[in-house]
Amino acid sequence: MSEPFDAAAVSTAYRSALEVISAIEPTVADAIRSELADQRASLKLIASENYASPAVLLTMGTWLSDKYAEGTIGHRFYAACQNIDTVEQAAADHAMALFGAPHAYVQPHSGIDANLVAFWAILAQRIESPALAEAGAKHVNDLSDDDWENLRKALGNQRALGMSLDAGGHLTHGFRPNISGKMFHQSSYGTNADTGLLDYDDVRAKAREFKPLILIAGYSAYPRKVNFAKMREIADEVGATLMVDMAHFAGLVAGKVFTGEYDPVPYAHVTTTTTHKSLRGPRGGLVLCQPEYADAVDRGCPMVLGGPLGHVMAAKAVALAEARQPAFATYAQNVATNAVTLADGLMRRGVKLVTDGTENHLVLLDVTSFGLTGRQAESALLDSGIVTNRNAIPRDPNGAWYTSGVRMGTPALTSRGFGAAEFDRVAELIVDVLTSTSPNPAPSGGASKAKYTLAPGVADKTHSAANELLDAHPLYPGLELT
Ligand code: PLP
Repeated sequence: MSEPFDAAAVSTAYRSALEVISAIEPTVADAIRSELADQRASLKLIASENYASPAVLLTMGTWLSDKYAEGTIGHRFYAACQNIDTVEQAAADHAMALFGAPHAYVQPHSGIDANLVAFWAILAQRIESPALAEAGAKHVNDLSDDDWENLRKALGNQRALGMSLDAGGHLTHGFRPNISGKMFHQSSYGTNADTGLLDYDDVRAKAREFKPLILIAGYSAYPRKVNFAKMREIADEVGATLMVDMAHFAGLVAGKVFTGEYDPVPYAHVTTTTTHKSLRGPRGGLVLCQPEYADAVDRGCPMVLGGPLGHVMAAKAVALAEARQPAFATYAQNVATNAVTLADGLMRRGVKLVTDGTENHLVLLDVTSFGLTGRQAESALLDSGIVTNRNAIPRDPNGAWYTSGVRMGTPALTSRGFGAAEFDRVAELIVDVLTSTSPNPAPSGGASKAKYTLAPGVADKTHSAANELLDAHPLYPGLELT
């Protein structure tokens, strides 16, 4: 970990905590012990996961969890919220300082919740204002039943334009399985068929034609930087609000790997993020915004969120304080450099990557040349101790379930201290597994999309090679539970 910690003190804290838990429900204590053992023993390449510091983790196991605090700082619907005010303010202050944002709202319980807060805030700011002006009202609470009826009608006709799922966008960017796909008429922009890159002229053309209320930028599986100055220019041209979901790459923004036009915060009207991916904090979300959206964003609870989680906001404050240290900038730079090493190591050994490389923390493998689906590749890698997740590639012939891609990211292993030599070795192991895997015949003829055979001995050989790397870079070094 880049933040040193007192291993003896942390070991004592967890040993004591587990004893207390075990006395009530030993199954849970055992699962907690087992999760640490499992995480220590696997090469975690899931692009959205990381390892939070002991300070962040310990902060969550406290009585701040026991307090109800609906409302905002200094304006709660419950009494005696002074300590929740303190931690929420600390987290918001750190978030504003870290990202250079005029306003931060740190209550969202997750990334999806942060996006929901953002959507409602944009609707409130963009739609309620004229309705309020007409009604001569000053406050959303002053809207009459008729005003709300009109608002609901207006909401039904709103449009959102986001990156398509198979180009790397996220479900919450206006797709059907998420409420955003029901709230908005949705249209999407994809990537160039030849280069796999975002084509800003195409985004502009789609925006001109579709005239969205919200232009959404951000992704879960696009391996490149996005130019947010250009996205803002397009949003301004069509009168849209630019919302950027930086859930995946917030750590690279915090660590100043993405600066200038690639830093979304100065360009977006509203920026959302998770706090647990490359940012390496507790599970949760937050919203940053320009001042004109602040009032509406702060209504997240109780508009679309349950009571704030005091213990998690406190852990966000700790994680954001960590992210403001120089060590975090080094970490973020290493995440990006390691992704390039991983990408180069894979491509040098013949793997096709979407966009032929990476500029962020993730790579997206196209495994069709191995004759495999993403699902088979994901499973064979898992059998060998390498944890990844299958992911659609642009225009994927195998659809979103089997897929033709596997997504891999460097944030977690970089937290363990992996560098160039280790990531090149990881690339070698991945290619060994993929070249040793073949699809089984399908009963109906052709190749199965799910079943596969991994050549004998490869899983064991890869496990022991992975263990060598993992043993050299222990997770939470010195933390002993027994
Ligand atoms: N936004 C993006 C871009 C994501 O990739 C994800 C999760 O993978 C989310 C939002 C949702 O985050 P959460 O799982 O915390 O709700």
